[in-house]
Amino acid sequence: MNIPELTGVSDARGRRIVLVSHCLLNANSQVEGLATWPAIHPVVLALGASGVGIMQLPCPELLGCGMRRWGQTREQLDFPGFRALCDRLADDALASVVEFQRCGYEVLACIGIDGSPSCGVNHSASGAWGGEPGPAAWASAVSVVGSSPEPGLFMAALRARLDAVGVRLVPAPDASNPDAVAALVTDLTQR
Ligand code: SF4
Repeated sequence: MNIPELTGVSDARGRRIVLVSHCLLNANSQVEGLATWPAIHPVVLALGASGVGIMQLPCPELLGCGMRRWGQTREQLDFPGFRALCDRLADDALASVVEFQRCGYEVLACIGIDGSPSCGVNHSASGAWGGEPGPAAWASAVSVVGSSPEPGLFMAALRARLDAVGVRLVPAPDASNPDAVAALVTDLTQR
């Protein structure tokens, strides 16, 4: 039962929420050179305009690797310390989701970033990278980066928790494609 039904007191809130990867609300957390929107992704602006609350997830790479990190692959981040960080952050997110649901709020989805080794939903950057990035070797290593059909490590930790509470993971649309942005907003808000 939600709180207005218990108390008879309501306010303007919409009682619908989406979880979003940190950089969808703050492109500044992305690896230098990769941002394709200036600050806030258009899908977040559109969801907010439609009355959906935005719950910003923490950026695991900002916390685990800092702002001077290189772009990395899933294999580089797949080590116990980073997985433990992702598990801890996902536990915190789950606690908020469960509390919102317990009080009658609807959590529509969790929106990630395909291609990210941390936040990819359907695929994540993959490659046998590692070691000193000397110029020649670096160029060669970058040329063999691929895409894994696995989620990024943080989204994997979230999926393991959110599936059980009925919250699906979806990738953010291309920020430069208004039709794709509108389609996702419609999909999430008109179910
Ligand atoms: S780790 Fe996730 S939140 Fe952080 S910059 Fe990469 S995609 Fe965005």
